[in-house]
Order: sequence, then structure tokens, then C-alpha cells
Amino acid sequence: MVEKLKIASFDFTCCEGCQLQLTNREATLPDFLGLLDVRNFREISSERYDDYDIALIEGSISRQDEVDRLLKIRKQAKILVAFGTCACFGGVNSLKNKLPVKELIDEVYPGMTIETLPVRKISDLVKVDLFIPGCPVDKREVERIVVNLVKGSQVKLPKYPVCVECKAQLTTCLFELGEICLGPVTRAGCNAVCTSGKTPCLGCRGPAEEINMAAFLELVKERRLNLDDLQEKLAFYNAFEPFQNHEA
Ligand code: SF4
Ligand code: SF4
Ligand code: SF4
Repeated sequence: MVEKLKIASFDFTCCEGCQLQLTNREATLPDFLGLLDVRNFREISSERYDDYDIALIEGSISRQDEVDRLLKIRKQAKILVAFGTCACFGGVNSLKNKLPVKELIDEVYPGMTIETLPVRKISDLVKVDLFIPGCPVDKREVERIVVNLVKGSQVKLPKYPVCVECKAQLTTCLFELGEICLGPVTRAGCNAVCTSGKTPCLGCRGPAEEINMAAFLELVKERRLNLDDLQEKLAFYNAFEPFQNHEA
């Protein structure tokens, strides 16, 4: 008999949408939970235990008490997973780092002291064993990864870009409709959920492997699309930080 994985899930600065993704797939949830010994996961159980092997970390880090809690979890967990785009890259929360935070706090909460730090991704603070990107994560992908962990198999994310999944669905390319889509440079695995609904990819799953950002910029220029718009999209989830302001 395969031993159940002791799993715990912890939310930091986030919307908890990634944890919810795991609980809202009723058809497979009982089988999925059958593989797991849930030690701490507030969307699933009211039980709380401090011993676990796998810790799913959801959210980015934006306060000192979150730093302390994360370090404590890292000491306990054998496998620490950055769960979702906020944890992997900082996510939408990172937009805060570009705002005049002190002035805004003084305006919204006059006279109050609000403790807040610049937003950081999990790997800025602790060693991360596994990254599962997505805003939110794709529940089928999470289930597949957890099943692999239970079996002790290697866990791999797709290396290729979203365009591959998009083309497989015979979707009209949004570049043909005059839109900037980050599909050519973004890691697949979401089944091109946005572009199949005619919404451009915003890159929530981060860079695909071996991307050619210079060629992608050239494409945007050739199409006479707005480069500021492109930079805004690349910055949205903070997932393309190393590639931003890249010159073609
Ligand atoms: S990655 Fe998206 S869905 Fe997940 S917690 Fe962050 S904001 Fe919410
Ligand atoms: S719509 Fe986006 S993801 Fe789909 S083929 Fe075009 S660039 Fe690629
Ligand atoms: S299409 Fe792009 S933005 Fe949409 S879920 Fe997939 S990776 Fe994220």
C-alpha cells in the first residue's frame, strides 16, 4: 500500500484562490484526498497538526511575521512547494512595489501604523523544492503533480509555451486581431484557458524554457503594437522580471 502524504497548506499575502482550486473539483476530490493525510489546510479541514512532509505555500511575503512563519515551515517541511503565481513570482501583489506605499497608507489610514514590507516571492527567502505556477493553479496539473509525489516519480512542468496548447485548439491567434499576447514566451500547462476565451495570455505561469525574448519583442514591433503595453503585461505578475525592459 502506498503511504499517504502528510500535507499542509499555508496562505500568506494572496487571495487564497489557489487553495480553493484544489477543493472545487468535486468529481475527483474524494480520490485525491484519499492519497493524502491532511495535517493543516483550512479550506478542507478544521484539524491542525504541526507535523507534515509537504507544505504548499500560497501567496507572496509582505510582512515580517510572514517571514518568521515561512522560516518555521521550511524547518518542518521535507518538500516545500511554491503554490501559485504569488508564491512563485510575487504575483499581482508585486504591483505594490511600484507604488508610493507610505503616502497611500497615510491617505487611506491616516494616523495608523501599518506594517508592510516590499513584496517578495518565496524563493527570495527560503529554498523551494517545487514550483507550481498559475493564477490560479490548474487543478488537474496539481492533482497530477501530487499523484507523482505520492508515487515518488519525478515531477516536470511543460517546457514549451502556451502557443502550443492554443494552436492545438485551433484558436485564432490574438496577434491577428491586433492584441499583444504573452503566449509565445509563457510556460504551458493551463491548456491556454485565456486565449481559448479570446483573452490574451498575461503570462501568469512565467517564462517557458529557452524563450527568445528579443525575437518576441521584434514580433511586437513588426506588428506595430504598443511596447509600453507589452512592458505593462510583462510586469503584471512580476513573472518576467529578468526579461523586462529587454531591448530587441
Ligand atoms: S496566484 Fe492568483 S489565485 Fe493564487 S493566490 Fe495568488 S492571486 Fe490568488
Ligand atoms: S493567441 Fe497567444 S497563445 Fe494563442 S497562438 Fe496567438 S500568441 Fe500564441
Ligand atoms: S493563458 Fe496565460 S495568463 Fe492565462 S492561465 Fe494560461 S499562462 Fe496564465
